[in-house]
Amino acid sequence: MKQPLVILISFLIGLVFLLQAEIAWGQSGHSHSHDHSQDQGHADKGPTHLQVDYSFRSDAGQYTPPEPDEDGYYWWKGNLHTHTLWSDGDQFPEVATQWYYEHGYHFLALSDHNILQRGKRWVRPAGDDFVRGGMEVYELYRERFGDEWVETRRVDGELEVRLKPLSEVRALFEQSGRFRMIDSEEITERRHVIHVNATNIRDLIEPRSGETVEETIRLNMDAVMEQRKETGRDMLPHLNHPNFARAVTAEDMAPVENLRLFEIYNGHRGVLNFGNDDGIKGLDRVWDIVLTKRLGELGLPPVYGLAVDDAHHYEESDSETARPGRGWVRVRSRYLTPEHIVRALENGDFYASSGVEMQEINSDGSRYTVKVDPEEGVEYRIRFIGTREGYDPSSEPYVDAEGRAREDRTRQYSEDIGIVLQETTGSEASYEFQGDELYVRAKVISSRPKKNYFVEGEHEMAWLQPLLPGEHYGMEN
Ligand SMILES: [Zn+2]
Ligand SMILES: [Zn+2]
Repeated sequence: MKQPLVILISFLIGLVFLLQAEIAWGQSGHSHSHDHSQDQGHADKGPTHLQVDYSFRSDAGQYTPPEPDEDGYYWWKGNLHTHTLWSDGDQFPEVATQWYYEHGYHFLALSDHNILQRGKRWVRPAGDDFVRGGMEVYELYRERFGDEWVETRRVDGELEVRLKPLSEVRALFEQSGRFRMIDSEEITERRHVIHVNATNIRDLIEPRSGETVEETIRLNMDAVMEQRKETGRDMLPHLNHPNFARAVTAEDMAPVENLRLFEIYNGHRGVLNFGNDDGIKGLDRVWDIVLTKRLGELGLPPVYGLAVDDAHHYEESDSETARPGRGWVRVRSRYLTPEHIVRALENGDFYASSGVEMQEINSDGSRYTVKVDPEEGVEYRIRFIGTREGYDPSSEPYVDAEGRAREDRTRQYSEDIGIVLQETTGSEASYEFQGDELYVRAKVISSRPKKNYFVEGEHEMAWLQPLLPGEHYGMEN
């Protein structure tokens, strides 16, 4: 996208001007490749020094305001895991945020590694510490957001650009009921390579290391919950990409009390969401083992599954390793605020998607009903998965090709765990609880291969949260 835009920020933004700008922007139907003449038209309307040109946040016709369901709830679309130049992402936070805004998202958490986007920070586009795109990234930023917005200085003759804090990025993009940003940190522990996102965090958390993987997950989850308690602010940790680097096993995850959310799908190509042939299990399998152990043996509540981008490389970059738009959540809540999003996540009031959108998710306690929002020419398989009471809990270690029993792999369990209880084709399906299920979760698999894939040949999917027999649940679009 080439959008040579001028942004004029003034201290005298009256409500009138804001409204004017929004109306003009809503009606103009900006295309992705809108040209100078439209911007000129904008500028002709009045005293330009009093207006903010918000056309950088044009959604290019990709946005349809959500409709509330009959109870007044909306299904907000969001991504909880993204990177910017504040850590190892390759774009300025405004450019990263613009991508999500333009693609119709409602909320976004910029979750940089071990840092919150606050205070003064300067980067050198031409310097060695700025290898991700260099001057081109800077020029694109300047072109999109304008000379008045971009802050630069010279230090020892070198150009430096200020990385804007989240508070300033917010001021550009946030609008009530349309787009909200959530404070976040990817707590990044290096010894065991455990990454935990802290959604709606208030104060930076230093990563904690334990003796084992399980202990390390627990320490970092607990750190977030301690801050939540101290501050009274709704925040939640989630375990990132269990199948990144040295994979986290189901046995590491299951006993961690505060582990309530994990990434069932992460768009980064370095993550083996679907496992490999060296004993790393696909995350669907890991999820079923974790759910079975928690509900069947440990007396712990279920863990819910998120889909996220973990975007590092935006559309202007050469790398396709971690592009945005691969995984997201649809969260059901009345209000679009970080607190309401967090509470809905905690209650399992959401689903994870890599392309499939839902119309309805429902249970009256005896029947779990799901309806896809179907797309033309696409077929859907709907699978209900669960474990029944009386399952065989035994397990053996995974033995690799050299005959070594691998502690760093999820163990091998019986086929009783995570069985397919029902599978049908069509855009809706209903499962009748038998009463002896520990949990039942649904997964929708589309016939359409994913264009913006993390692994070639993957199909678009949706992961719905586990429900227990007798549990009432209603989610209607
Ligand atoms: Zn990570
Ligand atoms: Zn990440």
